[in-house]
Amino acid sequence: MAASPHRIVVIGGGAGGLELVTRLGDRFERSGRAQVTLVDRSRTHLWKPLLHEVAAGSIDIHDHQLDFLAQAMWHRFRFVLGALTGLDREAREVIVAPVRDDEGREILPERRVPYDTLVIAVGSESNDFGTPGVRENAFTIDNPWQANLFHRRLVNECFRANYANDGAVLPLAIVGAGATGVELAAEMHNTTRVLAAFGLEHFDPERQIRISVIEAGPRILPGLPDYLAESTHKVLDDLGVQVCVNEKVVEVTPDAVKTATGRSVPSRFTIWAAGIRCPDVLATLGLETNRINQLVVLPTLQATRDPAIFVLGDCAAAPWKDGRNVPPRAQAAHQEASHLVKSISRVMSGEAPGPFRYRDFGSLVSLGNYESIGTLMGFASGGTLRIEGWLAKTFYVSLYRLHIWALYGFWRMALDTLARMIRRQTHPRVKLH
Ligand SMILES: Cc1cc2nc3c(=O)[nH]c(=O)nc-3n(C[C@H](O)[C@H](O)[C@H](O)COP(=O)(O)OP(=O)(O)OC[C@H]3O[C@@H](n4cnc5c(N)ncnc54)[C@H](O)[C@@H]3O)c2cc1C
Repeated sequence: MAASPHRIVVIGGGAGGLELVTRLGDRFERSGRAQVTLVDRSRTHLWKPLLHEVAAGSIDIHDHQLDFLAQAMWHRFRFVLGALTGLDREAREVIVAPVRDDEGREILPERRVPYDTLVIAVGSESNDFGTPGVRENAFTIDNPWQANLFHRRLVNECFRANYANDGAVLPLAIVGAGATGVELAAEMHNTTRVLAAFGLEHFDPERQIRISVIEAGPRILPGLPDYLAESTHKVLDDLGVQVCVNEKVVEVTPDAVKTATGRSVPSRFTIWAAGIRCPDVLATLGLETNRINQLVVLPTLQATRDPAIFVLGDCAAAPWKDGRNVPPRAQAAHQEASHLVKSISRVMSGEAPGPFRYRDFGSLVSLGNYESIGTLMGFASGGTLRIEGWLAKTFYVSLYRLHIWALYGFWRMALDTLARMIRRQTHPRVKLH
């Protein structure tokens, strides 16, 4: 009698989870050795590092979204729509919330999805540290919907300024000078200028847009090399972006960001991009969590309290080096997904999973059309290589291309790249609506 297939369930089809189910589906479903299921609260996937470009309007969300149902059909896994709300670890079942339509009518009831091996990959969201006024008065850019909403509001504000023709200044503030914050500042600087060039003749972004980046730490890009921070700071200075460091934000109001030193930075549009935390549901699963709700895992990426559960990506507190954890980055999620393909194969063969070793390939910052700066690690001498300009931009773009390659295969990725290059010749460089 044939053995029943090993049931692998992955919760979260993001940068890491979607690559994992795609490869597991390709590898196991045809042979019938495993049944692979993806659970996600969303119906489509968008690679999260693109979100600040969606927010600024540098890319159109609809050009980059991938339908989970289509990917599931092409790569032989199942897709279950709905949010994780709990686990029955004794019965080995995932509890998935009911799904409702826009009017609140229930489309799908609560469901239970059984597993033999479970992978949790639900990512992270912005951490407002309980700061007053953030929820009411600031945008976060955690998902495509929020990024798109921000973009529409920004365009509307530019239309309004153009119609009013009164020269009033529109102050924008970004809280958090990590990679997301500084990249967003440069993208917004660029798109407001392109927007004005497309017929907003009474709107002068040079005089009417003021962008500030506010950081609690002593310098921008905390955690990244000094060289990157200094070069990026200089580009932002040249663009006229106001950079405020050593300013811990204590309140966000509708028209200002207030800091602990008593400073009030004017802002009609505030974007909160300071720090991450993981969804609250993770703290209710009976697994070990840390103060930002990440699930604590062993070097094998197994949850400390349950070897049948693996965790990957931003929501994993995975040990790395010098007492630090693997950083919450797309390249970490990508490497962990590759590692788990092998680990799950071993588990299915009755072997123990091996330890995951994160390899830091460096950091890249893309400042829109203005500059790209980065460091590559572990090349030639094993040291660090500084790169700038088109070379840095090429490496930056190739991160996304690698993700597309993992999801579509080489030839579809190559065709997709070519199609985008052609389309760029016939479409405006920013989304105008
Ligand atoms: C604006 C921005 C720019 C970034 N730029 C970079 C960059 O340049 N380089 C880099 O390395 N990293 C970057 N990052 C970080 C990077 O995006 C993350 O580290 C990476 O996406 C983490 O992958 P993940 O698979 O853990 O989670 P995600 O990619 O966040 O995916 C999580 C998935 O889980 C789903 N989900 C969430 N909650 C539930 C639930 N309760 N039930 C079911 N499904 C759920 C979501 O719908 C989503 O599909 C950036 C992040 C942001 C926000």
